[in-house]
Amino acid sequence: MADTYDLIVLGSGPGGYVAAIRASQLGLKVAIVERERLGGICLNWGCIPTKALLRSAEVYHYMTHAAQYGLSVEKPSFSLDKVVDRSRKVAGQLNAGVKGLMKKNKVAVHEGVGTITAKGKLSVVQGDKTTELTAKHIIVATGARARDLPFAKADGERIWTYRHAMVPPAMPTKLLVIGSGAIGVEFASFYNDMGAEVTIVEMLDRIMPVEDAEVSEFMTKQLTKFGMTIKTKTGLEKLEATASGVKAAMKGPDGKVETAEFSHAIVAIGIVPNTENIGLEKLGITTDRGHIKTDGYGRTNVDGIWAIGDVTGAPWLAHKASHEGVIAAEAIAQALGNKDVHPHAMDKGNIPGCTYSRPQVASVGLTEAKAKEAGYEVKVGKFPFIGNGKAIALGEAEGFVKTVFDAKTGELLGAHMVGAEVTEMIQGYVVARQLETTEAELMETVFAHPTISESMHESVLAAYGRALHI
Ligand SMILES: Cc1cc2nc3c(=O)[nH]c(=O)nc-3n(C[C@H](O)[C@H](O)[C@H](O)COP(=O)(O)OP(=O)(O)OC[C@H]3O[C@@H](n4cnc5c(N)ncnc54)[C@H](O)[C@@H]3O)c2cc1C
Repeated sequence: MADTYDLIVLGSGPGGYVAAIRASQLGLKVAIVERERLGGICLNWGCIPTKALLRSAEVYHYMTHAAQYGLSVEKPSFSLDKVVDRSRKVAGQLNAGVKGLMKKNKVAVHEGVGTITAKGKLSVVQGDKTTELTAKHIIVATGARARDLPFAKADGERIWTYRHAMVPPAMPTKLLVIGSGAIGVEFASFYNDMGAEVTIVEMLDRIMPVEDAEVSEFMTKQLTKFGMTIKTKTGLEKLEATASGVKAAMKGPDGKVETAEFSHAIVAIGIVPNTENIGLEKLGITTDRGHIKTDGYGRTNVDGIWAIGDVTGAPWLAHKASHEGVIAAEAIAQALGNKDVHPHAMDKGNIPGCTYSRPQVASVGLTEAKAKEAGYEVKVGKFPFIGNGKAIALGEAEGFVKTVFDAKTGELLGAHMVGAEVTEMIQGYVVARQLETTEAELMETVFAHPTISESMHESVLAAYGRALHI
């Protein structure tokens, strides 16, 4: 007899495990299937362990710059093994936390590889044991994995994906980072602060190409100042592991191919959704460029099969996955007769994006260029951290906040920040956008002093010619 549930969630990342908890809160009988570790990429190999590594790099940076604060540290040094060990322990703590949450919420955990065999049917294989499960609804939350270069597979020795870069076999001396999205820039920042000589290569005309152009420009200046080499409009033609490192052939904007050697390379050119061998083809589930196509509630084209998180496409972010998980769980509960839940479709315009490099980057909504492209007449405000007392006191006076408003209605179209603590501050603007506030309410808001967040207020004031401290 197959175990029977209201809902089976395939994959336990921040999409899957959050969906399972919400469904259980709503009284559904829920199971979750995981082939690796509870918590998915985010908790085990993504968001959390990278932030632990970056924290070590930040502390090390302060140690090496202690004199700036009137302090002295004798010969600062580190053990890479211990830095990595701390990061793995943090990941382990969160993995255990998810285990506890599954227990608390009475979610049945099935370990093994899951495949949907028919509508409402899923088999889980672990070793030579197969368990058959049935459910009224199934959520696919299988996530994504690193994209390999077509001409050089990551070997874990010299050519790394994010997984290798998080548990490095050795400290790189000369590192090539291929791709300048959030993952590439975070690893570039980590290894640069730990003493490696870092080069970032990016095919497009600027690094962090999804961010506002002024943020990219600022980051290029800062990272270059910190010692990195940044090559934009440069395509990697070839990458070969050698006995002592890697050899890269890169075609620059002038069409010339330059060859350079590095000790290691990190490939951060994007991700591939995990859609293979889970039964999607047999059910005729529609995909779009590899990602499962869903409506704003996570419904696929097949009744009773839902999908959330990275497997459904951009933005590939944990909080987007979790939010979709809650929406799908509520929509399923509603479909099963719960009249008290009223899920809202996902609004992708209000999902913040954060990069935890040094300096940090955070944004929400439209960039200035995208707002203009969309036909808005804009009012733009910009406030530099040098005008902010707290930033100066912290020794972090480099950064800025930029806000983009609809000149006609005062709607906050987008906010873009770079500098210390901005990944914590962005939420203020996310709430503002969610509540559909205009410049008037933001100007009326009282910001605590001294905080770097006062720059958020000043940026709004600047958009209307009223900034006080510049
Ligand atoms: C280095 C790095 C840093 C990142 N940093 C951030 C960050 O700071 N902030 C942020 O928001 N996002 C970050 N991300 C992205 C974030 O990790 C993902 O967006 C998030 O994990 C997606 O969640 P998910 O639930 O869709 O899938 P995942 O977390 O990928 O989880 C999917 C799970 O499904 C399991 N699975 C797949 N197929 C099967 C199967 N057939 N049977 C059983 N189980 C299966 C997998 O083992 C996995 O555990 C980062 C990613 C990386 C790689």
